[in-house]
Amino acid sequence: MPCSLDGNSITALLMRLLRLLCLRVSVLCALQINLSLLVIISSFRLLYVYISAQLVLNRYPTLIASQVRNPAARKAGLEVSLFRRLSTAHPHAVIDLTHQYRMNEDIMLLSNRLIYGDRLKCGTEEVARRTLVLPDGGKYLRMMHTGKQTCGKDCWMDKLLSESCKAVFVDTDLLPAQDTRVGDLVQNPTEASLVHQITKTLLRSGVTESQIGVISLYRQQIKLLSHLLQDHKEIEILTADRSQGRDKECIIISMVRSNDAGQLGDLVKDWRRMNVSFTRARSKLIIIGSRKTLQSAPLLSEFFTLMHGKKWILPLPPNADKMHSHAVQPIILQCGRIPGKRPAMKEENKTIGKENDAITRPIKKIKKARTDVGVLRGRPILQDIMIGGN
Ligand SMILES: [Zn+2]
Repeated sequence: MPCSLDGNSITALLMRLLRLLCLRVSVLCALQINLSLLVIISSFRLLYVYISAQLVLNRYPTLIASQVRNPAARKAGLEVSLFRRLSTAHPHAVIDLTHQYRMNEDIMLLSNRLIYGDRLKCGTEEVARRTLVLPDGGKYLRMMHTGKQTCGKDCWMDKLLSESCKAVFVDTDLLPAQDTRVGDLVQNPTEASLVHQITKTLLRSGVTESQIGVISLYRQQIKLLSHLLQDHKEIEILTADRSQGRDKECIIISMVRSNDAGQLGDLVKDWRRMNVSFTRARSKLIIIGSRKTLQSAPLLSEFFTLMHGKKWILPLPPNADKMHSHAVQPIILQCGRIPGKRPAMKEENKTIGKENDAITRPIKKIKKARTDVGVLRGRPILQDIMIGGN
């Protein structure tokens, strides 16, 4: 087939060829320039490292490790972080940062005794004495009990919300508060109801939603709590994994496991998860669960010994979940409107993991410290607890 090109076609073709040529030249130039810069920068970095003989890594070993689901990858050791390997191989190169600016001294004591071997210190006196003061001065608590004879003189809610109560285990063993299953998932409706009542009482006493965080190790319990607290969008309800990097004035932890068979599962035996959960609280830490069930775990056994010695265990009476049930009635605004509801959990979040929720989050702001005793046994402390700030 004959082919003819007019002047315009030839010009267009030449222009296209020219553009392709320019593009190729510019890409090559850019690559060359980038490569040159990379070589220069890398050389300076290596020179700097060589001269100063220092390479500083910031990491937080007590953070919850990324979950490795592949058995072959786990067997190959991918669950052990690079920092853990380096700090184990070169313990002399690890520097302690022992001052923290988040938790008051009572909450810090838990982490200190269980994990850090008493090496943590409060950064200031103000941090050490931090406490949660009810903004209304206890007015709602008094009003809530007006005309009610159910509590008597020793109301557990009064004790729980007093300023002097900074770290407490709320023992449900006298209640019918057994854990239940939804398929493969575990939940504890009575604990969820108690968390609901405590949270509502805090809110009506003037504590703001953003000051409260609720944590559970179990996804189904998170779902239950999210439903009960759906009217309070600013209250963060988190798994231990997702609570990393957060802190709140008041943290309420629902431990969930409560059964006659003493079944604990693996989550409550994970000292990283427990430590992360405990150290989210700045002023008040409330842990709700069954002492009888939980204390069979070695780490939690130490925890209960400490809590018992400090008189920080609050045994609930058999009808505790009924005593303040009136505190959770829906709030009706003066205009007759019921406040908005918490959005439902995203579908992708529902399907990650089974009963637990090792949702990995980017790790940031990490510092380090170490200890020679406690669970770490000489391993370095990686602490986002160091970055709480004021
Ligand atoms: Zn009461």
